[in-house]
Amino acid sequence: MATRILIPTPLRPYTDRQDAVDAEGRTVGELLADLTARHSGLKAHLYNDQGRLRSFVNVYINDEDIRYLQKEQTPVKDGDTISIIPSVAGGAPTSAEVAAGRPASPGAGAGDALPELSNEEVRRYSRHLILPEVGMEGQRRLKAAKVLCIGAGGLGSPVALYLAAAGVGTIGMVDFDAVDISNLQRQIIHGTPDLGRSKLASATDKIKAINPRTDVKGYEVALSSANALQIFEGYDVVVDGTDNFPTRYLVNDACVLLGIPNAYGSIFRFEGQASVFGTAEGPCYRCLYPEPPPPGLVPSCAEGGVLGVLPGMVGMIQATEAIKLILGVGEPLIGRFLIYDALRMRFRELKLRKDADCPVCGTHPTVTKLIDYEQFCGLRPAADAPAGARATEITAVEFKQRLDRGDRLTIVDVREPNEFQINRIAGSILIPLGEVPARCAVELNRDDEIVVLCKVGGRSAKAADYLRTQGFTRVLNLRGGILDWIDKVDPSQPKY
Ligand code: ZN
Repeated sequence: MATRILIPTPLRPYTDRQDAVDAEGRTVGELLADLTARHSGLKAHLYNDQGRLRSFVNVYINDEDIRYLQKEQTPVKDGDTISIIPSVAGGAPTSAEVAAGRPASPGAGAGDALPELSNEEVRRYSRHLILPEVGMEGQRRLKAAKVLCIGAGGLGSPVALYLAAAGVGTIGMVDFDAVDISNLQRQIIHGTPDLGRSKLASATDKIKAINPRTDVKGYEVALSSANALQIFEGYDVVVDGTDNFPTRYLVNDACVLLGIPNAYGSIFRFEGQASVFGTAEGPCYRCLYPEPPPPGLVPSCAEGGVLGVLPGMVGMIQATEAIKLILGVGEPLIGRFLIYDALRMRFRELKLRKDADCPVCGTHPTVTKLIDYEQFCGLRPAADAPAGARATEITAVEFKQRLDRGDRLTIVDVREPNEFQINRIAGSILIPLGEVPARCAVELNRDDEIVVLCKVGGRSAKAADYLRTQGFTRVLNLRGGILDWIDKVDPSQPKY
């Protein structure tokens, strides 16, 4: 019996780019074993070293999450469709009330406490006011509402612009980046004249141009465990538009701890995800993905690319959910995981359950305050980690010095061929990360000193770790990847 398995975008490099493949088996375990036998590159992504299914990979039969069943023993019937849904990072309301259909904004149920609308505001929002679901009271709720956007990037751009236009009274934005030319393909709140400006300044100007009455509160800081609770406090909804796992978990935990709904969105290549986390009755991001993937295993948008219009679509879903939460109308995306596939132009919806054992929102939480998220995501060794972890890296400058000295180094570039066409280090061999397991034993020599590189150092760190497990003992990861090489050594090459 062959069963259809839907392959998510990040894993398609390991299935010859197919978005669905067939496998044989009577249980989920048998199916996945058959799948990884046919596509061996998937194995490292789906299973850990102990041969157990990784916790950041969720498996669904049809639209049911099977983690709370017997997972791998779960029988598969004829005609079932299996989905593999890994966590992806890319991108930036008081729950009990939401469940009861009551709005998340302050003054809920106390119309008198809501701010009045001026005559000009009545004209501005007239298309809202004639909707019975919004009306005068709903528009006053929007005016009273405070929404915090994490990131003024791809997702934060459409979210902030539309929320400002819709009349949300206070929009907070957390971002400390400057506008770069590579942002403009999708971050529509910024324009060419804004290149080099702070994203916050640029975003504030655009928001004010759309709606001068919007109160924009900018936080030009890196969100961290030290400042998140202070920044989040007082907001009605948080819109997560971050592009990395440490911040995702930080935003999730801070929202759960403070009881603020989190309109979640995530993007990668052609695929988007959205949900509402952090409400009392619904699941949180950790219920879905208790642990982050190891660094480098899941590429970021900077490494994997993203279709420019994709964050527009996903950001709109987040903005819509934020407005619904504020108004207390409709069915929020709580306990539902929406997946958008732009290439096939298809939406799928999966059911999510709250995990009673969730470390943050479960019945016996173990995470009761914010933690060190860089360390949690494996990006910084724990304080008690053995020294010498850094000896596996080489900087661009050291690398150049060694090349100039004539040291014999095998240079392996683990990016994709289309990235290699843009820029490369002379003399390097191209072996895309997914092909490393199959090609390393044939094309590389275990006694040679090998320098691996990718765009920013994440994928190559993974490749270096893999090579070490295969008996290659002299492997160095180029810290900061080719981008750092171009900055420090060879500025003549283009960056992407
Ligand atoms: Zn949870």
